[in-house]
Amino acid sequence: MKSLRYIVGNWKMNGTRAMLNEARAIDRAAARLPRVQVAVAPPATLLFRTREAVEIIGVGGQDCHVEESGAYTGDVAAAMLKDAGADFTIVGHSERRAMHGETDEIVKAKAETALGAGLSVIVCVGETEAERDAGNAEDVVARQLANSLPRSENAADKLSVAYEPVWAIGTGRVPSTEDVAAMHARIRATLVEIYGEAGGTVRILYGGSVKAENATELLAVEEVGGALVGGASLSAESFLAIVGAAASLDES
Ligand code: PEP
Repeated sequence: MKSLRYIVGNWKMNGTRAMLNEARAIDRAAARLPRVQVAVAPPATLLFRTREAVEIIGVGGQDCHVEESGAYTGDVAAAMLKDAGADFTIVGHSERRAMHGETDEIVKAKAETALGAGLSVIVCVGETEAERDAGNAEDVVARQLANSLPRSENAADKLSVAYEPVWAIGTGRVPSTEDVAAMHARIRATLVEIYGEAGGTVRILYGGSVKAENATELLAVEEVGGALVGGASLSAESFLAIVGAAASLDES
C-alpha cells in the first residue's frame, strides 16, 4: 500500500505560546484531510504544550543529543523529547551541520539514539550550491546517506529522509523538477542498497522553499513522498495551503 504524503513543518527557533493557535488551526484542518500525514516540529520549549494542544497531527523535535543523558548544558536528549510527547525528531538539518559542526557520523549517532528512545527520525541531507555547480550533488547526497543513516535493526521502518538542497533553504530558490526527480531516484536507489527491500518504502521528503505556489509541482514528482517546510510552516494559512496541495494530489 502506498504511504500517505507526509508534510512536516519545521518551526526552527520561532514561536512562543501564541504559536499554539497556529498548531490548533493546523490540527483542525488536518482532521478533515485524512489522506495526508501532517506534523510540526516546534522549538523544544513548545513541544509539550503543542502535544497538549493538538489531537491529529504529529509533533516532533528539531534535533537531539547523541548521548542519552548527562552533563551537556543546553542540550535536549531524545528521551526528553519522547517524554514531552514527541513522535519523531529531525536530525542532520543543514543548519545543525553548518552552524554546529555536525558530521555524518554525529548525525548517524543521533538518529540511533532517537530510535532507541522510541522516536521516528527524519534524517536531512542535501548539497551546497558549490557542490551542485561542480556536478557532485548526487554523489555528495549518496555519501551523506551512507554515513548518516541509522543501521540498527528495523531502522528503516521508523525513518524518513529529507532531501534539502542547502542553497534552496530559505532562499525562495528551488531545483527544477527534473533535478528533484533525479536526486530522489538516486536517494531511493541508495536506500535500497542500504536496507534492501525495506529501503523501498522509506519516505523521501523534499525541503527547501516549498510554498503554496510550488507545492503541487514538487509533490507530484516521482519519489517525492512529502515535504519538510520551514518558513511557510510558521502560519497555519501558508502551511495548510501546502497540506491542501498534497491532499488534492492524492485525489487526482
Ligand atoms: C528547512 O529549513 O527545513 C526548510 C525547508 O526551510 P524553508 O522552507 O524556509 O526553505
